[in-house]
Amino acid sequence: MRRADQRPVRGCRVPAPDGQSGSEHHGDDEGVCLYLDGLSRDLHGDPERARNDQVIRSWLRNNGYEVIEIAVSDLDDPAAMTRHFKRLANLLRRDDVRERLRTDEKWFQGATPSAARASVQRFSLRLVHPAPEERYVGCLPVPRSPATLGAMRALVAEGAGKVSLVELPDPVPGPGEAVVRVRAALTCGTDLEFLERGHPKVPFPVTLGHEFAGEVESVGEGVPFRPGERVTSTVTAPCGACPECRAGRENLCASAFDAPLFGAYAERLLVPARIVRQGLRRVPENVSDGAAALLDPLASVIRGISRLALGSRATVLVAGAGPIALMFTSLLRLQGARVLVLGRRPARVAILSAYGAEALDPAGGIEEQVRAMTDGRGVDAAIDAAGDPELVASLARLVARGGTLLLFSGMSREVVLRIAASRVHYDEVDVIGSFHYRPSDASDALALIASGALPCAALVDGAQPLGAWREAFDRHAAGEGMKTVLLP
Ligand SMILES: [Zn+2]
Ligand SMILES: [Zn+2]
Repeated sequence: MRRADQRPVRGCRVPAPDGQSGSEHHGDDEGVCLYLDGLSRDLHGDPERARNDQVIRSWLRNNGYEVIEIAVSDLDDPAAMTRHFKRLANLLRRDDVRERLRTDEKWFQGATPSAARASVQRFSLRLVHPAPEERYVGCLPVPRSPATLGAMRALVAEGAGKVSLVELPDPVPGPGEAVVRVRAALTCGTDLEFLERGHPKVPFPVTLGHEFAGEVESVGEGVPFRPGERVTSTVTAPCGACPECRAGRENLCASAFDAPLFGAYAERLLVPARIVRQGLRRVPENVSDGAAALLDPLASVIRGISRLALGSRATVLVAGAGPIALMFTSLLRLQGARVLVLGRRPARVAILSAYGAEALDPAGGIEEQVRAMTDGRGVDAAIDAAGDPELVASLARLVARGGTLLLFSGMSREVVLRIAASRVHYDEVDVIGSFHYRPSDASDALALIASGALPCAALVDGAQPLGAWREAFDRHAAGEGMKTVLLP
């Protein structure tokens, strides 16, 4: 296990320039500090403040601090900002800060000046105390002795296939942010995918895990949650302003995945302000942590079903037999649909059968079986919850005229499907997709979990301490049981 070599970001007092107020530099183990210019001089054009900044700078330098100055003109200059961030990144040998910096740096290259300014302010708020008028600045203390650190265990992927349990500094919430003590984090195929090939929207290194529930531990300014409250969360927060959001398709919001919430395979998780505002939800008392952590996948399934216009007594084929297929089965059965299931793993198929699905024999002629079970018509809808391109192409043959084929599972970008055009034209088979979920789907998901109508105990049927993450992933990859809850 590796130990990170820095303590959490926090404010740190330096003498007030006028020598009258705010004086001490507390903490005795700090050796080097870093000060991001509070922008007060340039933003306010105030000679008094300029003098103050001079005093603060020389105090910092005389006391062994590194100083990075960001001028206002730099804000409109992506190259200058990139230089600052690089220097900062080199100074900070801390993985989670480096990750944050890389994200900001990349983002800067396409940012408008005003957006860049907002980002720097956000960034500054995160790293330094934002109140120059109080005559003290914030610092990032780098202690001499790593042994004094507050640290937490986290499962970090440094690259595809490179995963290890490391110690990271405890996160500290900035304005609008919350730190959640994770009590339950579920295994999910998305995290497995991360291990194998990464994610186009999330750069390495990344702390894995995104289906979770826990307890609010600390909050920044302006957060409408109190420490001790039990919470779960969506993974993204749509912007609410783009054409997709305005059309009620927030799941397609282009900026929602700019800062997805990952990092639940850790003792603590920092929830960004945008997700605190829109994604974080209180967990009803009667819902266990493991069940509450199902919010994210269940919301996706609810979105998937909302894409289908199913009449009563519809027959639906679900391809796949994992947790997602079990969620589809349960929800469809609740709506009165008949569910046929096509899965490769008999143990999982048996679980789905126990919840009302009729199993097809994957070794036999699938088309013949489906025709025999549907008076020759085919199914009203077929849902791909397996992500196998060959299988998806064959599903198109099983759909009744006027029916729907729903592509639910993600497939890699290179995949091209071969589906007979005659099915789409002459038979009016709709081939549609569904991706992620809207905030309303997430609310419906939590309400459904709380109603007790979902077989949560069957969906989360294994538990391991975080240290046994490998066993949990192996179990997931082998398709044994459904989801394992990791207990950090
Ligand atoms: Zn997931
Ligand atoms: Zn949007």
